[in-house]
Amino acid sequence: MQTSFLLQQKDIPSEWYNILADFHEPLPPPLHPGTQQPITPDDMHVIFPENLVEQEMSKERTIEIPQPVREIYALWRPTPLMRAVRLEQALDTPAHIYYKYEGVSPAGSHKPNSAIAQAFYNREAGVKRLATETGAGQWGSSLALACKLFGLECTVYMVRVSFEHKPYRKLLMQTWGATVHSSPSEQTEFGRKIRAKDPNCPGSLGLAISEAIEDTVKTPHTKYSLGSVLNFVCLHQTVIGQECIRQMEMAGESPDIIIGCVGGGSNFAGLAFPFLQEKIKGGKNYRFIAVEPTACASLTRGELKYDFGDTAQTTPLLMMHTLGSGFIPPKIHAGGLRYHGMAPTVSHAYKLGLIEAVACLQTQVFERAILFARSEGIVPAPEAAHAINTVVDEALKAREEGRKKTILFNLSGNGFLDLTAYDAYLSGKLQDVDED
Ligand SMILES: *Cc1c(COP(=O)(O)O)cnc(C)c1O
Repeated sequence: MQTSFLLQQKDIPSEWYNILADFHEPLPPPLHPGTQQPITPDDMHVIFPENLVEQEMSKERTIEIPQPVREIYALWRPTPLMRAVRLEQALDTPAHIYYKYEGVSPAGSHKPNSAIAQAFYNREAGVKRLATETGAGQWGSSLALACKLFGLECTVYMVRVSFEHKPYRKLLMQTWGATVHSSPSEQTEFGRKIRAKDPNCPGSLGLAISEAIEDTVKTPHTKYSLGSVLNFVCLHQTVIGQECIRQMEMAGESPDIIIGCVGGGSNFAGLAFPFLQEKIKGGKNYRFIAVEPTACASLTRGELKYDFGDTAQTTPLLMMHTLGSGFIPPKIHAGGLRYHGMAPTVSHAYKLGLIEAVACLQTQVFERAILFARSEGIVPAPEAAHAINTVVDEALKAREEGRKKTILFNLSGNGFLDLTAYDAYLSGKLQDVDED
């Protein structure tokens, strides 16, 4: 039986797909945090280069992928589509389970798909240095690599708990030439203020974003870079779904259900939006499920409203599902996906009833991550294991109903640098957060 569906270098998509062209109801615009009026491109140029601001606001259905970006994509793209037959057997399910594997990138996740594009556009705009934040280091390492390949400097504000307890991605960033600061840091006024108040502050993503933005605004030739949430980040990730549509055709199947985990929403958007285009245009009736942790459930427990992307409340206001910009996920949550908000495009698709969302508990997520590793070999990133959790739920439902279903999910990364979270699970130290 054929279980892997591989494309060739020439099949790397030549365009990104922009879902803003196809929503029946327009996305509410970002607002200026001071005036509360729709933000102008000029406001955004303070932190982003013009070419990316243009992309953020574009309603063009397709945007050409620059050749230098495609050439770097070719280091790991097209990524494989695999059928998880051993997982199907382990679950004794009539469902067919497929996964798109983004863990083959140098950084081990889907994030370089946007990091490479962002570094390219910043270099085109004459920017010399990028500042960003990172939680456990997936985004920071992806941007470090991208900056090195395009000759930019890279400074990363890394959430302190990760900086101290998860040294390997910090070392990856340094290996790829980035400067890494533990956040809150002494580099920024905001960081110094927080440290003066609370010397033991563990940091958070929202806080690190505030530091990276302050650094950007105060340092010449510097722009800011964000690894999820924004329209252009979701846009860059659509190479995943476009490749996948062709690979599902090679497999001779059409997915009934399409599943992805959601932190800020970019890997889910990347897989789902090209398929969602077919659903919006009519004809295809796919179900889409976004999976989030109960401990940080912005879609299922948050509110749809204008909110800030950061703790210092300096970013533009985005219309998104959010738990509030001051939200800090509980310490014992080990499964990633810790951002308080959700991409406006994903929030909008949810509001329009085009996609569904579920929240799940981390002990079951790890139990099924291990089932996946023991049947398919690949150790999934804890984030991606949230998608696996819902895949297993749906496969078990198919077994109960005695119906064949075709399930497709995004295996957004591998878990090699998250083995301490596996350690916590395997040694029985992992607990669930906030059950009801
Ligand atoms: C960062 C990350 C995520 C969550 O981010 P999204 O923007 O929601 O995709 C999911 N999986 C992996 C492997 C990640 O590194």
